[in-house]
Amino acid sequence: MLFGRNNKNPIKIADKGVVEWKYATCGYCSTGCSIEVGLDRKGQAVASRGVADADVNRGKLCIKGIFEHELFKSAGRGTQPLMRKQRWDTFEPVSWDVALDHTAAEIKRIQAAYGRDAFSIVSTGQIMTEEFYTLGKLARGVIGTNQYDGNTTLCMASAVSGYKRSFGSDGPPGCYDDFEHTDCLLAFGSNLPEQHPVIFWRLRDTLEKRKFPIIVVDPRVTMFAQMADIHLPIQPGTDVVLLNALAHVIIAEGLADQDYIDRHTEGQEAFRELVAQYDPQTASRICGIDEDTIRNVARTYARAGAAMTIWTMGINQSTHGSDGVVGINNLNLITGNVGKPGGTSLSITGQCNAMGTREWSSCSGLPGYRALENEQDRADIARFWGVDPDFFPEKRGLFMTDILPAIETGQIKGLWLIATNPMTSMPNTPRIRKTLEKLEFLVVQDAYRDVETNEYAHVYLPAALWAEKEGCMTNTERRVNLIRNVSQPPGEARADLWIFNQLARRFEQAEAMEFPDEAEQVFDEIRELSRGRMLDYSGMSYDKIEQNRGLQWPCSDSPSEWAGDDSSEGTQRLYTDGRFAFPTGKAKLIPLPFVDNNEKPDEDYPFWFNSGRVVEHFHTRTRTGKVGNQNKFSPTPYMEMNPDAAVRLGIRHGEYARVVSRRGDAVVMVQTTQRVPPDMVFVPFHFHDCVNRITLGLLDPHSRQPAFKQCAARIEPIADQQAAAVRNKAARAY
Ligand code: SF4
Repeated sequence: MLFGRNNKNPIKIADKGVVEWKYATCGYCSTGCSIEVGLDRKGQAVASRGVADADVNRGKLCIKGIFEHELFKSAGRGTQPLMRKQRWDTFEPVSWDVALDHTAAEIKRIQAAYGRDAFSIVSTGQIMTEEFYTLGKLARGVIGTNQYDGNTTLCMASAVSGYKRSFGSDGPPGCYDDFEHTDCLLAFGSNLPEQHPVIFWRLRDTLEKRKFPIIVVDPRVTMFAQMADIHLPIQPGTDVVLLNALAHVIIAEGLADQDYIDRHTEGQEAFRELVAQYDPQTASRICGIDEDTIRNVARTYARAGAAMTIWTMGINQSTHGSDGVVGINNLNLITGNVGKPGGTSLSITGQCNAMGTREWSSCSGLPGYRALENEQDRADIARFWGVDPDFFPEKRGLFMTDILPAIETGQIKGLWLIATNPMTSMPNTPRIRKTLEKLEFLVVQDAYRDVETNEYAHVYLPAALWAEKEGCMTNTERRVNLIRNVSQPPGEARADLWIFNQLARRFEQAEAMEFPDEAEQVFDEIRELSRGRMLDYSGMSYDKIEQNRGLQWPCSDSPSEWAGDDSSEGTQRLYTDGRFAFPTGKAKLIPLPFVDNNEKPDEDYPFWFNSGRVVEHFHTRTRTGKVGNQNKFSPTPYMEMNPDAAVRLGIRHGEYARVVSRRGDAVVMVQTTQRVPPDMVFVPFHFHDCVNRITLGLLDPHSRQPAFKQCAARIEPIADQQAAAVRNKAARAY
């Protein structure tokens, strides 16, 4: 008889018959893993693997990346353009010429009848940087609407706003290598193991070699909180209070880096005055963290040689999202933790190319972090593109979250959505449904024909996805990485770049402008426009990016103000010399008075309703809902509920329950767990007709990002469990 190891079946790895591996970058999250896609003899993509010598992931991929090649054959893809006259008519297949002619004609009709800004464009964080740049040229330089934004307003706008307010520019100052140098890591509202598993692995890898304190601030006992040295289960929406209290203790106990404050910041007097009001005792009553813990965390952070803060949606998706980011920056400025190895404010971004759209799409301004409000920037881009500078507006238009209400009021009549799905992603689904029904013309451009929003479209344009085309994406740590063309799009689906160029050719305004057909030619324009700027790409080329497995900007071909003497191999950190992007060169310490302005639990709606991600799915499941194992592992939304609360309401583990808010209701399966406190429930946000039927989505005043993660709800038991199960299964059919 064989015992132990000898009795085990050896793991068998199926031979997929790969004859060639092609280089790409994962197209899901912003970690930016380098990935190779294996092609068999027929040229079919049959496998994915991590790239071993890529610094980001060092050979690893998470479950989404491992199955990414399956996307090429996933269900629901659009294979030809579709049109219908009335919203509830059946879609009819049409040629690209018919679809694009009609789209251009409708844009012109709406603009002629109601003004240029009556047509709006909302894009994404998931197409290539070259495509973002070209879309920006089309939107700003040809169509000329100022109502142009991206869905990154739903996830990253607060980080952008906070960075700009504190440092004078967007652009995360740190990098993953900071884990290897830090002496203390503070994570706000970030469940790293599930949201960004490969970044988490980088952290774990470092912790195995060297121990340093991990402090997690999160109202839930997330996976990350479970491994933390200190977990701060904060009252939702009160991060600013905690951050002010940490600053209070650091200043009151003489732990601040006064030399750094004096040399590199301005505004310290007003800041000191404000945080003086947030002593730990007062703060504790608001944020729910006991005063000794506040003191302990403040001392641990300030006394660490180098300390860093990371955050994701727990900070950004709040009515104080931008202030939360500024509060984190304040903390790092007063402790001298910006631009040094292990000392940073690092926003972990969400979508694979959220950074690329921030840099080059012109959504919030003009390409390369240029501002519409700046006359010189308008003149420079006008000259480069060959348009009249007066064609540009002198300040940015509406954010995505204000564009949809402007449709309600009749200010906007036409909308072009590119790889974004507001029917599932926006708060308050019932209201969004009515909003989309008001449009005179809606065009949806997406790789998937079956995205929920397409039900409301007049024209559907089928797009290529991920490695069905070529181009670059920028990850969380400013690393520009390359995606080679691995597979052909199905049927008549076309790359977004091709679609933008074809549409541009239907406008007279574009006749004197260049719209290059090849992504690499567009990249050359980007390189040119970036030279000498903070986000300098001039030292990059496609081949060099692939050889290096990504390059971090600034990466310049010549010495420059931001890149220094030699940045030809990229730059790990920004602001290393303490010089910031404001004209004074100093960062700003900004006082943050706390205003309690969100919906909160009350007698009728006694639970906090919280939402977030699971590792198997990405955003609205448009892709991961179609890939076998992801959907098998996570087929249905569930609701985490504290066992005490469940007993009180007579609900058992595994039963269906109804969650109800002032906006709507949803039926979900209950998972009883101590991960949530008795006054909170948590539901993953990926599923259609679920979380966003409940959410309120009040907006942050600076970033206009919705407070997805905090609203009030009540929970009702359901008598007929069988009917609920049948209905739930039907609703999650794919
Ligand atoms: Fe892709 Fe993000 Fe997973 Fe890496 S961690 S494989 S980038 S989804």
